Amino acid sequence: MFLKPDYNVENIYAIDLEELQKVGIKAMLFDLDSTLMASKSGAYTLKTLDWLDKVSQNFFIGVISNNKNPEYIKKVQAISDFPILFDANKPSSVKAAQFMKEHGITAETAVLVGDRPLTDIWCGKKLGCKTILVDSITAKTENMPTRFVRKLERCCIRNWG
Ligand SMILES: [Mg+2]
Repeated sequence: MFLKPDYNVENIYAIDLEELQKVGIKAMLFDLDSTLMASKSGAYTLKTLDWLDKVSQNFFIGVISNNKNPEYIKKVQAISDFPILFDANKPSSVKAAQFMKEHGITAETAVLVGDRPLTDIWCGKKLGCKTILVDSITAKTENMPTRFVRKLERCCIRNWG
């Protein structure tokens, strides 16, 4: 199945970091909105910052975001101490591949983590990375239309291929 992620977990905190190390992962590339922070919030929670700190002890951290709002970019960059690629144009893998090259990351040792199959997971597959699909970091508080689209996307993954 072409959009089936390697791992499908509830949220970033449920990612098995030891397992990733065991299979040779050295770099974790994250989608930003809904994956690392509430959509359009421009802020990490303390819990997320703690978790990222733990991740950074054993992995390179990078963010690959489709967001291209200059104000938002400035805000997020000011609070992040890892490289971020904005306006990444996922599911295209062109800019993401360039970003990986710049940081010396190879696809075999990288995992792409995101909440959207049709952008994040597809991009990760094109890059040849391992992929992890997470539910939105704010899944329980999302409105109905957003939840509907998510269900539809997940239904597509199950039925394709
Ligand atoms: Mg997202």
